[in-house]
Amino acid sequence: MKNNNKSQAPKAPITAPESIVAYDASHFGNAVVPPIFQNSLFTFDDFDDMVETYSGRKVRPVYSRGLNPTVRAFEEKIAQLEKTEDALGLASGMAAISSAVLSVVKPGDRIVSVEHCYPDAYRFFEMFLRDMNVSVDYVDGRDIDAVRAALPGAKILYLETPTSWTFHTHDIAALCAIAREHGAVSMIDNSWASPIFCQPATLGCDVVIHSASKYLGGHSDVVAGVIAGTKEFVGNVRSNILPYLGSKLSAFDSWLLLRGLRTLPARMREHQRSAMIIAQNLANHAHVTAVHYPGLMSSAAPGLSGSSGLFSFEFSPEIDIPTFVDALRFFKIGVSWGGHESLIVPALVTRAQVGGPNSAIRFGVPENLVRLHIGLESADDLWSDLASAIEASLK
Ligand SMILES: *Cc1c(COP(=O)(O)O)cnc(C)c1O
Repeated sequence: MKNNNKSQAPKAPITAPESIVAYDASHFGNAVVPPIFQNSLFTFDDFDDMVETYSGRKVRPVYSRGLNPTVRAFEEKIAQLEKTEDALGLASGMAAISSAVLSVVKPGDRIVSVEHCYPDAYRFFEMFLRDMNVSVDYVDGRDIDAVRAALPGAKILYLETPTSWTFHTHDIAALCAIAREHGAVSMIDNSWASPIFCQPATLGCDVVIHSASKYLGGHSDVVAGVIAGTKEFVGNVRSNILPYLGSKLSAFDSWLLLRGLRTLPARMREHQRSAMIIAQNLANHAHVTAVHYPGLMSSAAPGLSGSSGLFSFEFSPEIDIPTFVDALRFFKIGVSWGGHESLIVPALVTRAQVGGPNSAIRFGVPENLVRLHIGLESADDLWSDLASAIEASLK
C-alpha cells in the first residue's frame, strides 16, 4: 500500500474548534454539490470526543437541532453573500424575524419599526410583543428626523428594503448610523433586494434577515429564513433562542436553498430586466395612476444597486380590478413571490384580512393598488398579457 497522506476513506465531517465549519467538500471527493445530511444524530468517536465537545473545546455536529453540515453549508454561503461574520438558518422568514427580535427585547422595552412592514411581522409585533409588554412605534422611514425623534430609549430599529406593498425605500446607512448613536440594534428585512442588490451590513446595519422562501430559494419549493450578522449576535440566537424555540432549518431545505443560490445573480438580473420594462410600460399607461417600483425612482434608494421583480401600481377608477385579475393568463393569483412564476395580488382582497382602516400597515394602501411579481417568463409575453387584461377590464 502506498504511503499517501491523503486519506482514502471519507473523514468525519468535523472541524476546527474556533469556527463552526461543518462541511468540507474535500471529505466527499470534492463533491460540487454537498450531500444532504439527512440525520438527526451524529455519534461520538469515544468518551474523550464527547467530553471535548460538551466542554465547548471542540465544535462538531451532535444533533441536527443544533449543527447540521448541510444547513451549515447554506449558512456559510449567506454570511459570504451578506458580508457578515456569521449566519443562522431557520425554518421560515418569520422564525428569523421573531428569533432575532426576541434575542434583543425584554418586557418593558420599546422598538421602532418602519411603517408598512411585512404584514406578519406587524402581527408578531402587535400580538406577541405587546403581550410581552414590548411596545412598537411605527415611523415613516423616509423621514430621517421622525426616526431620530422616535429612537431615544428604543432597543431595535426595524427596517425593510423597501417596505411591503408601498415599496418605500430608505437611506439605510443614515438610519443605521442614527440607531447606533442611540444604542439601538438595527435590523433589516432584505428579502426583496437579496444580497445581489443590497448588502446592508456594508451600510452599517447590524442584523440582516431574509425570508429565504423568496429569492434565495427562488423556485417556490422551500419555506426558510436566515439571520446574518456578527458572530456575537448570531451566536447568541444560535445558543439562547434557537434551541428552545426550536425553529431549525432542515437539511433537505438547506440543500434546495444551496441549489437556488447558484442561480441567484442570473435570476435577479432577469427579474430586474423584465420588471423594469413592465413597470415603465405601466407608468406610461393611460389607466395607471402610480407605479411603486424602486427601479423607476431616480434618487430615492441609496444603498440599493438594483431592483428586483416585486412592485405595486394603482389603477384609475375605469378599471374593474376583479375582471382584470381573472383576465390574466400568465400571472397566477397568489401571495409570496421570488420564484420563477409571475404573480398578482390585489390589495382589495388582502386588506380585508388585516386590521381595520387604522392599522399601521394598511394605512396609505389604497384599494386600487395591485401587486405584481415579475417572474422569469418572457417580458414580452407578460406585457401583452397585462395590456390585454387591462383592455378587457375597462368599465
Ligand atoms: C414572505 C416574507 C416574510 C416571511 O417569510 P416566511 O418565509 O414566509 O416566513 C418576511 N418578510 C418579507 C418581506 C416577506 O415577503
